Amino acid sequence: MINRKRFIIDAHLDLATNAMTLNRDLTQPVHDIRKKEIYLEWSDYQDRGKGTVAFPEIRNGNIGLVFTTMISRVSKNGSPLDTLDLPGWHSPQQAYANAMCQLEWYRQMELLGELVPIKTRAGLKEHFYKWTTDSFEESKKPIGYVLALEGADSIINLDYLYKYYDQGLRSIGLSHFGPGRYAAGTHSDGSGVTKLGIELLKEMSKLNLILDLTHLTDKGFFEALDIYDGSVIASHQNCRSLVPGERQFSDEQLKQVIDRNGVIGGALDTWMLHPDFKMGIDSPKDMGINLEKLVDHIDHICQIAGNSKHIGFGSDLDGLFGLEQTPYDMDTISDLQKFETILKDRGYNDEDIDNVFYKNWIDLMNRTFD
Ligand SMILES: [Zn+2]
Repeated sequence: MINRKRFIIDAHLDLATNAMTLNRDLTQPVHDIRKKEIYLEWSDYQDRGKGTVAFPEIRNGNIGLVFTTMISRVSKNGSPLDTLDLPGWHSPQQAYANAMCQLEWYRQMELLGELVPIKTRAGLKEHFYKWTTDSFEESKKPIGYVLALEGADSIINLDYLYKYYDQGLRSIGLSHFGPGRYAAGTHSDGSGVTKLGIELLKEMSKLNLILDLTHLTDKGFFEALDIYDGSVIASHQNCRSLVPGERQFSDEQLKQVIDRNGVIGGALDTWMLHPDFKMGIDSPKDMGINLEKLVDHIDHICQIAGNSKHIGFGSDLDGLFGLEQTPYDMDTISDLQKFETILKDRGYNDEDIDNVFYKNWIDLMNRTFD
């Protein structure tokens, strides 16, 4: 046993978006990817040259399992969102085809031995054993991934839910940013789950899929919880009582997720960590936003729950932002390991740290997967 780093699960990354929208070859180290993007700085996406996530760093951080997304929106007028350069497709068919492009990238990474899909309890058990038993230096272990949809627009109809499931999909968030076919999302009119959304939720529970509540409006959140009887998570989600705004959950919402035995993934976007952080203007360093700030949210959720069983990581690193919107004491995703010392210093014992690092997500998958 050479590896002394704790196993980590990160329940929210947008790896395919990074690969297929930002044209990042994630098999290369983060610092090489940054260099390749220097000429693009300020030309298209705000995080050019500032990425923090790639396979070598995920492995180096002993992050053996990630939930990673396909993102593909439908937008009636097809325009990008006002606030984000996410394309909105004119039709569900285009959105589905675009999602399939992202899926094909995951498949290609499987062929390279970079990734391995985790879809069942047995698969999870085997994968966890491999990562925690072999010596770390010994091999380039495939990183486990749970396939997730961030925004359900690309599910053309209920037949496609089953197609997605057969292709490995295990977690669905109904909405993302703006209006959605199944539910309204962040920065929308605040309406809730649509008629299509109600049907989708009912069908999802037959498949024991994970419902990801992140990006729902408050109205949609409570509606979805009423309808859905399966496992719920909030994959990348912080606390509204610390950082006001619709994107964060109120204590009542956090309590509901906890009561449903759900898990909340703490996110590292500085916009969700500091009440006054303004995107594109403020710097994490000047605002004093370090990793410690996330522990305030972790603490808050532990206080509400009365234990450490409902919180994990859902970092959202490189989720259309990079170093310019990441805690200043983090250079790459492998720095998630720094939380071991930070949590210890804040009074978390060994068992609590394991709960936060991976165990709560494992327990949730064990409760949910076939
Ligand atoms: Zn998101």
